[in-house]
Amino acid sequence: MIDFFKDFILNIFLIFSPLVVYPYLYKSQSHSMKYRLWLCFFFTVAIGFAMSIPVNLNGLVYDFRSIPLIVGSLYGGIYVSMFLYAAIIVVRYVLGNPNNLIYCVSFIPTIIFIVLLLKRYQQMRLTHKIISAIIVCVAVKIVSFLIYLTSIGKLDLFTANLISSSQTYILQSVVIAVYIYLIEFQQKYIHMQEDAVHGEKMRIVSEMAASVAHEIRNPLTAVRGFIQLMGVPHLAPSKLQFYQQISLEELERAQVIISDYLAIAKPEPEKDELILMKDEVQYISQVLLTIANYNDVKIDVTLQDGQMFIQGDRNKLRQSLINIGKNAIEAMSKSGGVLEIGLKEQTDKIIITIRDNGIGMTKEQISRLGTPYFSTKEKGTGLGTMVSFSLIRAMKGKINITSEVGKGTEFEISFPAAPHGY
Ligand code: ADP
Ligand code: MG
Repeated sequence: MIDFFKDFILNIFLIFSPLVVYPYLYKSQSHSMKYRLWLCFFFTVAIGFAMSIPVNLNGLVYDFRSIPLIVGSLYGGIYVSMFLYAAIIVVRYVLGNPNNLIYCVSFIPTIIFIVLLLKRYQQMRLTHKIISAIIVCVAVKIVSFLIYLTSIGKLDLFTANLISSSQTYILQSVVIAVYIYLIEFQQKYIHMQEDAVHGEKMRIVSEMAASVAHEIRNPLTAVRGFIQLMGVPHLAPSKLQFYQQISLEELERAQVIISDYLAIAKPEPEKDELILMKDEVQYISQVLLTIANYNDVKIDVTLQDGQMFIQGDRNKLRQSLINIGKNAIEAMSKSGGVLEIGLKEQTDKIIITIRDNGIGMTKEQISRLGTPYFSTKEKGTGLGTMVSFSLIRAMKGKINITSEVGKGTEFEISFPAAPHGY
């Protein structure tokens, strides 16, 4: 019995090992070729191990090969499924088992099962997914076993071990149920995170709409006044030109505000590009200026000389820094504070500092920063910093926070500098 448990635990460990990397694979686009290739790789390794280290339960030797086969098929699709079937046949051949051709034929009905199930699987509810995975897993074993044993004329082997084999079916069903549950749980968690990133962006967009409206009203009011002035009879040409020039400048400002706003609101696909940080910090402070003016806050930007590049997704960088800058402005709201934004390079690191002289945070608040739903604001969501931190970390960035209650807060965000030979 001890031996059985030893082998069983080892098998469980081996067939569950693809789960460790699954979230990374799933995040990097679940419909891409790369995702399928990696699934083929990890599930083939699991199948190989499962078949090489079978379990002995009450004299009946069996292995868990059908679990990685079914899970890989259901989550990878038809091509992964074919690959895994082929992998089982190859591993079986390498292990020196007889009757390989008959074994191949015995798989045909279950391949048809899986193809039929795959059409509906993704739309099913969790319980239906678990039930159908159990049914397919048991069917794969029974059907292929029956065909195989009938073909080699040893059907009595099947009936002789009915009780022991039913135990293995129960065990296998429990394992695959847990497996499906864990995969679905991981997928749900990833979707939740993606929704939070998107939701937070929409919140910035809708909150910005108020400040944008406010910002645009000022130039428009000015232009309106100047157009009225231009209508005054016998106006000196120099004055007319002056009014016209100011009106044009004001309209241009309104245009910049609108295009900045649209650049944030527009959805963009994920990219990995070389980012010139100077331009980005300038752009970000431009966007924050709209919010700062609305909150009676000044912005002071200090840029070190020199080319500074990082590697990442421009839009995500913008979203995360604007989130942090917006919090800093909100921490000084209506108190006439100054938001200091700095950019410098220090031994292969590009460092952005966002400093405010606002309300500051206690140690406990700092430690909770970045965890979901932590907010001290009446209408806060507590998702902004969580989203920012996860985006920054995805770009290999590090965040350092220093804060003192009543004095202010400094966020220091550092990214590895990207080489920029071009
Ligand atoms: P929200 O802004 O919706 O409250 P965030 O995740 O953006 O959510 O911020 C979480 C909390 O962190 C804020 O409610 C605030 O208490 C605190 N915080 C973040 N940045 C600062 C800052 N610069 N100064 C003071 N408190 C801050
Ligand atoms: Mg916020």
